[in-house]
Amino acid sequence: MQRFAPFSAGLLDIAHKRQGQSSVVLGNSEIIAEVHVLNFRLLLTAASLLIAAAAWGQTTSQPPIWASKPDVTAFEKIVNDHLAAADSAVKNITAVKGAHTIANTLTPFDEAVRNINAAAYLSGLMSQVHPETAFRDHAEQMVQKASAAQTALSLNHDVYQTLSALDVSKADAATRYYVQRYLLEFRLAGVDKDEATRTQLKKLNDELTKQQVDFDRNISDDQRKIEVTDAKELDGLPADYIEHHKPGADGKIYISTNYPDYIPAITFAKSDSLRRRLFETFSNRAYPKNKEVLENMMKIRYQIATLLGYPSWADYNAADKMIKNGSKIGDFIGEVKDAADPIAKREFEMQLAEKHKADPNATEIGDYETGFLSESVRRAQFNFDSQSVRPYFPYQGVKKGILDTAATIFHVGFKQEEGAPAWDPAVETWDVIDKGKVIGRFYLDMHPRPGKFSHAEMAPVLDGIRGKQLPEATLVCNFPQPTADDPGLMDYSDVVTFFHEFGHLVHHILGGQQQWAGITGITMEGDFVEAPSQMLEEWMHSPQVLATFAKHYKTGEPIPAELVARMNRATAFGRAIWVSRQNSFTALSYDIYKTKPEDVDLDAVTLAGQKKYTPFTPLPGTHMYTAFGHLAGYSSAYYTYLWDKVIAEDFFHQFNQANLLADPTAMRYRRTVLEPGGSTSANDLVRNFLGREHNMVAFQKWMGQEFESRDGAGSERTAAK
Ligand SMILES: [Zn+2]
Repeated sequence: MQRFAPFSAGLLDIAHKRQGQSSVVLGNSEIIAEVHVLNFRLLLTAASLLIAAAAWGQTTSQPPIWASKPDVTAFEKIVNDHLAAADSAVKNITAVKGAHTIANTLTPFDEAVRNINAAAYLSGLMSQVHPETAFRDHAEQMVQKASAAQTALSLNHDVYQTLSALDVSKADAATRYYVQRYLLEFRLAGVDKDEATRTQLKKLNDELTKQQVDFDRNISDDQRKIEVTDAKELDGLPADYIEHHKPGADGKIYISTNYPDYIPAITFAKSDSLRRRLFETFSNRAYPKNKEVLENMMKIRYQIATLLGYPSWADYNAADKMIKNGSKIGDFIGEVKDAADPIAKREFEMQLAEKHKADPNATEIGDYETGFLSESVRRAQFNFDSQSVRPYFPYQGVKKGILDTAATIFHVGFKQEEGAPAWDPAVETWDVIDKGKVIGRFYLDMHPRPGKFSHAEMAPVLDGIRGKQLPEATLVCNFPQPTADDPGLMDYSDVVTFFHEFGHLVHHILGGQQQWAGITGITMEGDFVEAPSQMLEEWMHSPQVLATFAKHYKTGEPIPAELVARMNRATAFGRAIWVSRQNSFTALSYDIYKTKPEDVDLDAVTLAGQKKYTPFTPLPGTHMYTAFGHLAGYSSAYYTYLWDKVIAEDFFHQFNQANLLADPTAMRYRRTVLEPGGSTSANDLVRNFLGREHNMVAFQKWMGQEFESRDGAGSERTAAK
């Protein structure tokens, strides 16, 4: 991603792909890719606004995004109008004669931000969800256009000069923070540098973008496969998988490195040889091609960082984050290691005991084996089959349950706008109500469609500006669609994903009541954004919460507390091992960007990290770094996921676990963490809620939860107190 957009945080993250774990592999859904999300403000004439409002009897005067039902031409006009409005706002800033004031400088700047965001959000969303291919293609072109406008503003030297000369000493704290934060982003983009340096930076950034595109493309283009000559090697895999993998005309079965092929095979196939071959092939995708591309990226990034006065890319990249500098990433990795190691060791021993059933003398576990052994332990020792909970998760019941839960804990109401127009008939439109007043709107686009974005994300639709524009967002998911004779039963991991994405949505809406577009909603530092969403996932483990909505689709019987307890124990198993592997990826992402690129030997650094942070033996001859896409996009900031997990658990442990639905802590959390949006540093939000810095205590407890409850004192007993 380009880092130099002053409002980049608002466009960062949130929409992301979640993959890497099939529904049967429980817990810890791994977020392994990120896409930019986009949002939108509909400009309608007052007349069409009134007509639109009258048509479906809405409760707010702000028409839903699709009120004008635009065709491609009308859609492009909406986006172009936003970009033109942004352009003229920027011209107004630089045309000011005399003293620059908040009214004649910051106000038009924020208008430009709001309009470019609106253009980008709408184009991005439509490129992902519009049912027509041609429409999506046009939207994709508008994404490029909006992105170019974003870049141009973020590099506008005149705008930087006027903003830096603006006297905000008498303004409120949020306004002062806004200006200070965006000036930092301008400086990180080098906008304050002389022209020769700016030209050089532009060249470097263009080259970096090209290398990033190559890196990603080399990964997606390099789908590999292995041959299986003996069908017995598929033993252990689900029947439908075997059914889809019949020998071809040449008598051979092929298993590809695509996730739907790869994940079940690496998790369930009993054949050690098959898993080893598949893992080796998987871990060599884009090798050797991407080795050089990655080295190029490291060199370019180092040059950018040093040109801007930072000792390394890791330091440069951390400068506008909560973590602030590279060495703190290193410290964090060490703390995670200390917290995870003792528990990972216990989990490793359990896997080793499982391995001894087939190989009594084994002393090591290969990294290609851990997925399979983890699953075996879950089945053998935790007596939990993820299929057993599905009947309690019919889509409609889960949707109602999650909305009701959020409404209860955050003291808001949700009301569906019946008949509101949307881009697809399956999309639902909902109002968010606080004390009788509509404070936001969201769209649920929850089921698969041909050509639709295939993962799960929260995509902002409108930035919330107090008294001016309600925040809006869309959940784009791919959950089973209920029909007349199919309740649309959801997997455990689907329900977790729903909670997660809804956590982003609530954050965007409740935080979307600021004075400025540039600091509203989820615009805070990029390394905080995943904390509130990960925290809401924890509600999924509460028997009290589940009992309110997880009801058997046939009998209506609430999910038994005993089943929840078993589910919680089983899903807790393997967390420390997962953390240790994530930590090794985090270390890789930091280690290759923390120093001069010529000092980095990619193979040696990768291997050293695997050995240091995980208990597993790396398979020789693999080069996973060439297919680890985040080394391009996230670069040195892969720590974000664990960082936010640590914060999320610390937050969660402030709540009364036995009574999550009536705990006043939720309101305090809403006020201190969610409502400020991006109007202050996330470091303040954390301190204000916890009354201290976050630490590893709750995170460590979370990792070891399967051992805590093994004595049978399941969480259902805790809840009954
Ligand atoms: Zn997320």
